[in-house]
Amino acid sequence: MIRFLDLKKQYHQLKSEIDKAIQTVIGETAFIGGRFVKSFEEDFAKYLKANHCVGVANGTDALEIAIKALELPYQSEIIVPANSFIASAEAVTNSGHKVVFCDCDYANYTLDLEDLKKRITSKTRAVMAVHLYGHPVDMGSLLEITSEYNLRVIEDCAQAHGAEYKTQKVGTFGDVATFSFYPGKNLGAYGDAGAIVTQSQELAIKCRMIANHGRMAKYDHLFEGRNSRLDGMQAAILSVKLRYIDQWNEKRRYIASLYHQGLEKCAELSLMKVEEWATPVFHIYPIRTKLRDQLKEHLKQHHIETGIHYPISLPKLKAYSDLGEIDNKMKANAYDKELLSLPMGEHLEDNQVQEVIHSVVNFFQEGVT
Ligand SMILES: *Cc1c(COP(=O)(O)O)cnc(C)c1O
Repeated sequence: MIRFLDLKKQYHQLKSEIDKAIQTVIGETAFIGGRFVKSFEEDFAKYLKANHCVGVANGTDALEIAIKALELPYQSEIIVPANSFIASAEAVTNSGHKVVFCDCDYANYTLDLEDLKKRITSKTRAVMAVHLYGHPVDMGSLLEITSEYNLRVIEDCAQAHGAEYKTQKVGTFGDVATFSFYPGKNLGAYGDAGAIVTQSQELAIKCRMIANHGRMAKYDHLFEGRNSRLDGMQAAILSVKLRYIDQWNEKRRYIASLYHQGLEKCAELSLMKVEEWATPVFHIYPIRTKLRDQLKEHLKQHHIETGIHYPISLPKLKAYSDLGEIDNKMKANAYDKELLSLPMGEHLEDNQVQEVIHSVVNFFQEGVT
């Protein structure tokens, strides 16, 4: 079986370090807050070359808290890509604002900036820049647009730990950025975890307060916040795994290059384009084909696990039916039927990647069975 993701294999490779980290946290009963959280926040900020990092309970909370900290007028419009995980949009609604969907690029799958310009109105206050699949958004061009219209930028880096736009890591371009450490992400905890990253001390303090009941010191609550904290055990595990992230991302880029070489001649397939200014981290390796469902079934028959990210574009979800008519001209509203995610991760061996390539190529050569 060629696994889409293999967290067990990863654990067994790091077992002694991880077990020791967990034991230390338990030994010190440093469950909430404490030195392990502080040390991970510092290390992660340093890794990104960001000024501040605030650990929170998960990536969805990170987005919601980050948006709240921006203190935008109630019901501001925030532009969100049509192809993403629902959390990118959910956080907008849950923090009292209005989602406005924007189309995504055919080739690199991030925000289609020409379409984005058309979605800006007098009520638009921010853009959610999702570095989808680990490919960075064209931040240079996006920031030109957002500064012209005086919009804030939230970077959703849940799939892009370590990805770079022109040698600068994503998460350091916008007003505020968020990360998820959901177990399956490129940097994953052993449960839910997330972080907010910003260059602004004021925003960092605000986010930390919102995430901890609006308090400055114990029982001194300046406003109502919530409970969304990163716990010590997750922080200690993440500190161990942070030492491997570059090596794992490098392996993902290598696997992506093998896929690209092996599949680029397949006329029936659209492969992801890596822009020349991008260093992606391939959280997902997406391909597109009109025969998606048949190919998925074929690979399953050959014991190859695949995924779909995402099978229904956000504007087409029932959850967003109140936003009005679905824009059928949006590319992202059509290519959701064609997307397929191939196995990707540091767990894959070269021969397994070749087997996936072989199986995909065979499917198109032999025709649909
Ligand atoms: C995973 C993910 C999130 C949410 O993170 P959680 O930690 O699961 O809450 C948000 N945005 C994107 C793009 C994601 O992939």
